Amino acid sequence: MIRIPPERLRALRNQIPITDVIRSHLELPNNFRDSFLRFLCPLCSGFDTAVNPATNLARCFACKKNFNPIDLVIAVRRCSFLDAVIFLENHAPLIGK
Ligand SMILES: [Zn+2]
Repeated sequence: MIRIPPERLRALRNQIPITDVIRSHLELPNNFRDSFLRFLCPLCSGFDTAVNPATNLARCFACKKNFNPIDLVIAVRRCSFLDAVIFLENHAPLIGK
């Protein structure tokens, strides 16, 4: 079992802009409406969503669920927690270095 240092996980969750995860790293369908970035929810495929840059969370109002960058990668790619961490580290290699 690989142990990922907690500060590394914190960096992945907090320092990779969730907008970059949506638009660049996962290339999720998205658009700007009423000054919020909306994205295709990986759970319900709806657009009743918004991104909160202050908390770095993406929320689906229909699913009543918040996604941090790691959660979102898991949901979109249907991968394991560890695979999501590796995916983010490969796409955002400057973080924590
Ligand atoms: Zn949803």
